[in-house]
Amino acid sequence: MLIFKDHKSLVEHLISLHLLHKTIGFVPTMGALHMGHVSLMTRAAQENDHVVVSIFVNPTQFNNPEDLEKYPRTLEKDLAIIGAHLNNVVVYTPEPSDIYGSQVVSKTFDFEGLEHQMEGKFRPGHFDGVGTVVSKLFEIVRPHNAYFGEKDFQQLQIIRKLVQLRKLPVHIVPCPISREENGLAMSSRNERLSPEIRKEASLIYETLLNASSMSKTATVQELKNKVMEAFENHPHFTLEYIEIAEENTLIPSEIMSPDKSYRAFIAVFADNVRLIDTISLK
Ligand code: AMP
Repeated sequence: MLIFKDHKSLVEHLISLHLLHKTIGFVPTMGALHMGHVSLMTRAAQENDHVVVSIFVNPTQFNNPEDLEKYPRTLEKDLAIIGAHLNNVVVYTPEPSDIYGSQVVSKTFDFEGLEHQMEGKFRPGHFDGVGTVVSKLFEIVRPHNAYFGEKDFQQLQIIRKLVQLRKLPVHIVPCPISREENGLAMSSRNERLSPEIRKEASLIYETLLNASSMSKTATVQELKNKVMEAFENHPHFTLEYIEIAEENTLIPSEIMSPDKSYRAFIAVFADNVRLIDTISLK
């Protein structure tokens, strides 16, 4: 494993791989790695000559300072996890100054409306932060393939849009959601849940499965009502949103047209930890 803390030495190392026409698979992460991240990395290793993993808690994509401060940082453990699953891997672990210089601020992006729905509504500026850091990381790594989880489906669509609008020479590979045994989507934030709440958080996926099975016969409103009922007056969970949206535009829909693909998207506070999940309604 090669570890780089600054982009200059990383770029120097990668130039030799580019000159040899080796393919590079890239997995950007914010660390506190779990098996969801590992599934992206092992896929990248299968499909490319070399894998680059970045570990960087990107300050500009946090709209809530407390969330940024409490985001788990477990670098030693992360490196051990990477080492246990991949042989030939390059890890990039920059400080904010290496990515941003002295001004840790986002650029502003127009993702043709994708950024205004769901997470964009509740986390102002979040996707400007994501767009800024992913653009910079793509410039540094110049990957052939980049791997993103469907857990953050809105982010995945936004990255696809970024690549399309800027005509970037990178192939975006969507990866399925890894779940804990009880169905809870794996997330670095799960580390902040008490064991009891983590167990009970299976409710989030259960409501999505229920919505998926209802989607053939019920209306969108009935389906959303069912999810809202499950969280109403719940002692530990507060529903922030449940939306049914078309996969390409991410525009929430009240009617599902048979020739389009839809997903349910949910955000829930488990005590003060914010969790998101999604399911296809095919
Ligand atoms: P993060 O470290 O949370 O920014 O996530 C880094 C990448 O891993 C993103 O592309 C996420 O969508 C993906 N990811 C996070 N959790 C999961 C999961 N449970 N299953 C699959 N991919 C995931």
